[in-house]
This record gives sequence, C-alpha cells and structure tokens, in this order.
Amino acid sequence: MKQKVIELNDVTCILGKTNVGLYENHLIDTAVIDTPLDLGAILITHGHADHFGWASTLQRRTRALVVAPKEDAFLIEIPEVNVRGMFSWARPPIEMTTRFFLGEACTVDRYTEDYPFEGKIAPLLLPGHTMGHTGYLCDGVLFAGDALYPKAVWERHKLPYSIDVELTRRSLDAIENATFDWLVPGHGQVMSKDESAGQITFHLERLAEIDSMILRLLTRARSTEELIYAVLKELNVQDNLAQYWLSVTTIKGHLSGLVSTYKVAYDITDHRVYWKANE
Ligand SMILES: [Zn+2]
Repeated sequence: MKQKVIELNDVTCILGKTNVGLYENHLIDTAVIDTPLDLGAILITHGHADHFGWASTLQRRTRALVVAPKEDAFLIEIPEVNVRGMFSWARPPIEMTTRFFLGEACTVDRYTEDYPFEGKIAPLLLPGHTMGHTGYLCDGVLFAGDALYPKAVWERHKLPYSIDVELTRRSLDAIENATFDWLVPGHGQVMSKDESAGQITFHLERLAEIDSMILRLLTRARSTEELIYAVLKELNVQDNLAQYWLSVTTIKGHLSGLVSTYKVAYDITDHRVYWKANE
C-alpha cells in the first residue's frame, strides 16, 4: 500500500498499512519511512511487529530512544515470547506463527511509564489488544494503535485480535472520554472526534454480538475445540493456520470475559473442558 502524508494540527501523519505519526522529534510507531536524523524517541503503541518492526533499524540509523509500555516491552525485545505464548509456551510450527508476532527484536531503552513526556504529548493506556497497549496524544491527535478497529477493518477481519474483551471495552470508553480533535487508528482512515464516537459504538456492538453468539452456542455444553469450530463457522472465517491461532486467542478472550461476569461456567469431563452458558 502506498503511503500518504497529511498534516493534522502540528502533527505529520504517514498513512499506510500501519499508520505512523511524527510530532516534533517523536515518531509514533514505525513503518518504512525516512525519518529526520534528529529523531529523539520512537513511541511504540504495542508489541506487534506491524507496529514495532522497523524500530531496530531506526534505532541504529538515528540513535533515537525506543520507548514502549512496560507490559509489552518483552514482546519487542524477545518476539519469541509472543509466538510461544500463543501456543501455550510450546514452539508452534512456523506455518502456525503469525507474521504479526515475528518482528526483528529491538532493545527498549525506556518504558513509556518512565519517559518524561513534555508539552503537548502524553500517553493514554488502552489495554485489551495486548496487556500494555498504549495510545499517544500529540497536539490534539490521538494515535490509538489497535485499540479501536474502524468499520472497514471489521469488514476484512470478522474476529479482530483481542486478548481481554473486558479491558478492550474499558479502553474504548477511555477513548470516548479523552479530549482530542483527530483519531489516527493503527490501521484504516483518520477520523474526527465526532466520527470516533460512531466507530466506538460500532466496535462495542460487534463485541456484544460475538458475546451473544457464544452464549447462544453455549446453551448446550461444548468443548473448547467445538466452540472454536462453531464460532469460526458462523463468522465464515477463512481457513488459514496462522490466522486460526489468533482467532483461538480472541475466542478465549471472549470466554474469559463471559466467565468473569458469571455468564459462562466450565467443567472438565473425560479429558475435555466444556463451557456452558449459565441459565
Ligand atoms: Zn496489534
């Protein structure tokens, strides 16, 4: 995809497969771009390779500080943690490994939590997509990373990645309550504050629909594998080994949310875990 450069307030936005920002001497997330050599810091939203993949190259080229949220730093420094985490810490066959987890490792110089933000730039904690996922507000422009999936993304991905659906909901509320003029999602079109309200509602509705579907499917007890099959079948998700494991995590993200809100119960029988909706 070709990159397009636009200016919002005093922020330069480089829009492409992954949207990136440049504000004063701060780069927000990374993409294949020519950056000013006086770059001071690279602010990473989260530990997925489509967001941090060029950090180590830029770190060498510019000597900028790589800044990332503490809870995601280990995914950037040792991407294999993410790969193994997805497969219950065993090593998955390479075909089962998503490219989003396979990035060039990069040393994190400073945690976002310890970085001295000054002036019109501040972090906004938005967990749910990953544990430490963080957005960055720069001069009225919110770089929201993958906390908000715009409608167009939902059209392509029926089950966008989330490790904790309850946290994802809270983060969407945090975006709604934040003050900004423009929102730049990690993927997709820039939106105004007013437009973001509609997109947040849409995201929340989709999460609620997936929860309802799971509750309907669990009116009878199903094993984990049976539930995964039934959800992917209903959503008509295309078979793809790497994508399958991302979907497994997201379905478990919904399941743990439904268990924590007492909507789903579980048991083990005959070496299988069964899930069932509470009456
Ligand atoms: Zn991501």
